[in-house]
Amino acid sequence: MTDTFDVIIIGAGVIGNATAYYLARRGLKVAVLEKSDHIGGGASARNGGGVRQSGRHPAELPLAMYGVKNLWPNLSAELDLDVEYYRAGNLRLGKTGAHLDILAQLVQSAEAGGLDMRLIGAVEARGICPGLAEEVIGAGWCPSDGHANPLLVTLGYYRAARRLGARFISGAEVVELRKIRGRVAEVVTAEGEIRSAGRVVVAAGYESRKILSSVGLDVPMHPLQVECLVTEEAPPMFCQMLGTAMADFYGHQSRHGSFVFGGSHGYEAHAFYGQPLGTSIAASSVCRAIIGYLPALREIKIVRVWAGWLDECADHIPVIDNPAETPGLTVACGFSGHGFGIAPVVGILLAALATEETPVLDLSAFRYDRFRAQV
Ligand SMILES: Cc1cc2nc3c(=O)[nH]c(=O)nc-3n(C[C@H](O)[C@H](O)[C@H](O)COP(=O)(O)OP(=O)(O)OC[C@H]3O[C@@H](n4cnc5c(N)ncnc54)[C@H](O)[C@@H]3O)c2cc1C
Repeated sequence: MTDTFDVIIIGAGVIGNATAYYLARRGLKVAVLEKSDHIGGGASARNGGGVRQSGRHPAELPLAMYGVKNLWPNLSAELDLDVEYYRAGNLRLGKTGAHLDILAQLVQSAEAGGLDMRLIGAVEARGICPGLAEEVIGAGWCPSDGHANPLLVTLGYYRAARRLGARFISGAEVVELRKIRGRVAEVVTAEGEIRSAGRVVVAAGYESRKILSSVGLDVPMHPLQVECLVTEEAPPMFCQMLGTAMADFYGHQSRHGSFVFGGSHGYEAHAFYGQPLGTSIAASSVCRAIIGYLPALREIKIVRVWAGWLDECADHIPVIDNPAETPGLTVACGFSGHGFGIAPVVGILLAALATEETPVLDLSAFRYDRFRAQV
């Protein structure tokens, strides 16, 4: 038996690190156990950097809006690290009437949630982002969306949490949670080390499912492999986040000039799981989509591609909860490909849950017990 902590967090991704920071800021003794030898080696440092409210599930929209209003603008100062956050808007592009119908639905859903998003015509879209293909006939425009550098945000939370005394233990794969007198109170690592805490937070991405099974919980989610690419540097072209009605690509231009793009190719569920470089078709499929919308990028060179794994939940929104059947345990997983943009607010919400305070936002949509038999 080794150390005892107020809170043990499992997983040093952006969710775990943000939670560690907000808990350490309250003066709690926090440990983060990370399976790999790296901090942020999961989805958190592999993602596209979108800090998006538009296109969110209605349940997630209040979290995204709270973060953009209250947390993202001050995050660099708070973490004492420039996280390259830009609130320059999100243009979601369309080329056909069917695309505009999809965009109109997104606008309607955004408006219902109180988000400023509207449909704009091709001329206005080109005014915002010159260089769009002639075929673009309209776009959904959300001026308060943006992007940030996921590596810097993830490592920024890690460094800031450490400065406040949080302990990060890498190479520590948690294989089991244990209850003492009905309360989750211990974690066991693959090497047989046991650590105890007043509260355990599971924030281990798709691998949370296996960890949670040791105390009889099951979140219906599965790993989904998605990919990104980064190009050589180029002169500044646009500072918005771009996407399309069909989600065939999304991306932004980073501060030093590289474009970071991701997108779908349709075979994500059948990817060669565990292959960190991704499939052979993703980059070409995403590039075809990009060139169809931004022909000026035809000659730009790709310098790197990579894959990452999503914790895809059955209903596409996360579980953020203290399940009633497991006192002492907080669950944070199932972010389904959009956890980066809401990570700061989720960190604050989890810090409240872990200390059994009332969170600043209603979390009832994210309860563990929402899953019911479908038939
Ligand atoms: C290619 C790609 C593009 C994306 N683009 C966007 C985007 O533009 N905008 C957006 O909002 N979101 C995006 N996402 C989603 C976003 O990255 C994730 O939702 C977010 O990073 C989830 O963070 P996390 O901390 O929960 O998970 P992770 O970053 O995966 O962290 C989980 C950590 O737990 C550790 N772990 C696992 N098992 C154990 C164990 N047994 N013991 C100890 N540690 C363990 C893992 O090693 C990992 O470090 C994208 C994801 C990918 C892959």
